Amino acid sequence: MATGFLTGKNALVTGSTSGIGLAIAHELAAEGANIVLNGFGDPADIEKIRQELVGAYGVSVLYHGADLSLQSEVEALVAFAKSELGCVDILVNNAGIQHVSPVEDFPPQTWDKVLAINLSSVFHTIRLTLPDMKQRGFGRIINVASAHGHVASTYKAAYVAAKHGVIGLTKVVGLETATTPVTCNAVCPGWVLTPLVQKQIDDRVAQSGGKTEAEIIEQMLGEKQPSKAFVTTEQLGKLCVFLCSDAASQVRGASWNMDGGWLAQ
Ligand code: NAD
Repeated sequence: MATGFLTGKNALVTGSTSGIGLAIAHELAAEGANIVLNGFGDPADIEKIRQELVGAYGVSVLYHGADLSLQSEVEALVAFAKSELGCVDILVNNAGIQHVSPVEDFPPQTWDKVLAINLSSVFHTIRLTLPDMKQRGFGRIINVASAHGHVASTYKAAYVAAKHGVIGLTKVVGLETATTPVTCNAVCPGWVLTPLVQKQIDDRVAQSGGKTEAEIIEQMLGEKQPSKAFVTTEQLGKLCVFLCSDAASQVRGASWNMDGGWLAQ
């Protein structure tokens, strides 16, 4: 049974069936927070994840499979979290997708989908949880943006636009809550080896005409990430735990880089 400083708090982590969101769920649960998981995946795998969290930390862990590209499902997810756990104290907007294509070929429907999941869902979860956080006198909103919230790369028009939007939204909410016990911040990962990035690696290997996966990874890190090492999901989870702490109560409207030096260049 976890007895950390988040014991009794309830966290909704979107896109937490995989990658960074799953690691954030682990780290928050390890500090005692109850968790609402969300995201796609095989139902048996998701149930295994849920049971592992319950078993490891003794917290309540629930799952809701809302598709965050749809406003009505975002609303259903927040309503579920509130009705099952009573309130949402910690909101982590992590769900996100990527699509790589030159802008003139970028499918408009994919643009709409990336913007809906990566940006609009963040607006909806915030507007639906913030009033209760203010009333209860505690709240932590953490938006998983990206180094691509500050700088661009080619062929990622929708993703880069959405992540820049997330950082703008984070600043607005950070200001609007500045005199309250609620904080709103973004975290900005560089490359993290998750399924989202593995797909990009696989595509580059397929298009490279014979390069190995190791060579492509070396090239990707070499292009962007001075550390030449992936950021880990656990490191990002621990950054989120810090942002939930009292020590971070005056971190407001920030976008915190964890990018192996990507944005220092
Ligand atoms: P991932 O693909 O491992 O996980 C994405 C999660 O979002 C999964 O749980 C997936 O099921 C969920 N998801 C996808 N579409 C959804 C939808 N319509 N509704 C609900 N859930 C949905 O990816 P990840 O790398 O862990 O990415 C997590 C976040 O981190 C994203 O916002 C991503 O942009 C950001 N990020 C990732 C990296 C990286 O290098 N991996 C770098 C910077 C930022």
